[in-house]
Amino acid sequence: MAESSTISADQRPPSVDTLARELALRFELPHAVLVDCARIAIARGDAKQAGQLADEFRRQLLTDVINATGVLLHTNLGRAPLAYQHRQRANSLEFDLLSGERGSRQRGIGKLLALLCGAEAALVVNNNAAAILLVVSALANQRDVVVARGESVEIGGGFRIPEVLEQSGSRLVDVGTTNRTRLRDYRKAIDSRKNDIALVLKVHPSNYHIEGFVEDTPVDELATLGVPIVADIGSGLIDNSCPWLFGPAPTWLVNEPAAKQTLASGASLVTFSGDKLFGGPQCGIIVGRADLIDSCARHPLARALRPGALIISSLQQLALSYLKRTVCDDVPFWKMATAPLDELDRRAQQIVAAAQRGRVVDCLALPGAGSTPGATIPSRGISMVGDYLEDLRAHQPPIIGRVADQQTLIDLRSVDPDDDSILISALSALPARQ
Ligand SMILES: *Cc1c(COP(=O)(O)O)cnc(C)c1O
Repeated sequence: MAESSTISADQRPPSVDTLARELALRFELPHAVLVDCARIAIARGDAKQAGQLADEFRRQLLTDVINATGVLLHTNLGRAPLAYQHRQRANSLEFDLLSGERGSRQRGIGKLLALLCGAEAALVVNNNAAAILLVVSALANQRDVVVARGESVEIGGGFRIPEVLEQSGSRLVDVGTTNRTRLRDYRKAIDSRKNDIALVLKVHPSNYHIEGFVEDTPVDELATLGVPIVADIGSGLIDNSCPWLFGPAPTWLVNEPAAKQTLASGASLVTFSGDKLFGGPQCGIIVGRADLIDSCARHPLARALRPGALIISSLQQLALSYLKRTVCDDVPFWKMATAPLDELDRRAQQIVAAAQRGRVVDCLALPGAGSTPGATIPSRGISMVGDYLEDLRAHQPPIIGRVADQQTLIDLRSVDPDDDSILISALSALPARQ
């Protein structure tokens, strides 16, 4: 009898089922997920790994986090936070309550957005990239689109203007130089008999800023060219006088193009994102001339790019808040952006006192999402010596801060005041670290 060939009962690997049941005591994950983690760990010959696998699985699921980065519209954290709730009921998405017949999902929201932006009509799609793709596909297929060389940009996430034009079946005619493009550059391209110009596309370079010997051609000059001007303003500021703020527009918005003024200065269409400065759900919004919006809506791509009822209903709530001017009370982005500094200071003092950690510091928050490049909003935060990013990320709910010069910074401008108590308990539980 070779003793070495016998395995005693306690050395034998646990059954998948037993291990999954053990995991169920620690993780609120479906049994099928825990079975999968148990099976993988056992197959690797290390049953102890199962807990780590389950934890990794849990942390890969979408979850809400506390954004303490000070970047109000954080691209990795879902851009504009939403305060949207909906009922468990059917809705009138494509039902016309007046006639009892089939209706358009775009009709009500289109009217609200048009009213907000001073436009004839509006159309909603899945994001601003989709909006531009739809506009050039519907209005410039097999034709030419003029773009200034300095605006032939990459917005991030693989969204590059020349590639979008190529995808749409239109041809890019780039004019001017990287730093300067004048009206006569556009004029020359339009007058050239080689070209069949469908429209001029003006793209706001939202995520970068060129300084020095630069010149671009404003929309009111482009509007004299006699072809439709499509302006991608990107960030979705609706009106640069910000009537919903009941005061002067904040200084961090001074250079930001706005939908209403861009249309008023002669753009035929304006496109922008719903989840940047507008403060809503992820979507793309096209506003402007009714005939052009209609061509977009009738293009086959419109069906593929249309948003669902969740988006339209939350966008409708948002548009109504703007029209009722209750934005500072019920739109999280505008609440954060306009919170008074002394209020942030009071919260920071309170958290530091209660948690017995860190010290109150001045800091600078950013609007984020590539909007308002270079602009900052004064803020207050809590600074702690040492790098606590990982500890904070492991907290439930996760807290996302930032680190500079070996100091961890919690910026309160991007944190909902209702979450301050969570910050207090998380900070007081942090290990000491220098
Ligand atoms: C953000 C941005 C886009 C892309 O918008 P998405 O809604 O993310 O698709 C396009 N153009 C400009 C100028 C932008 O700022």
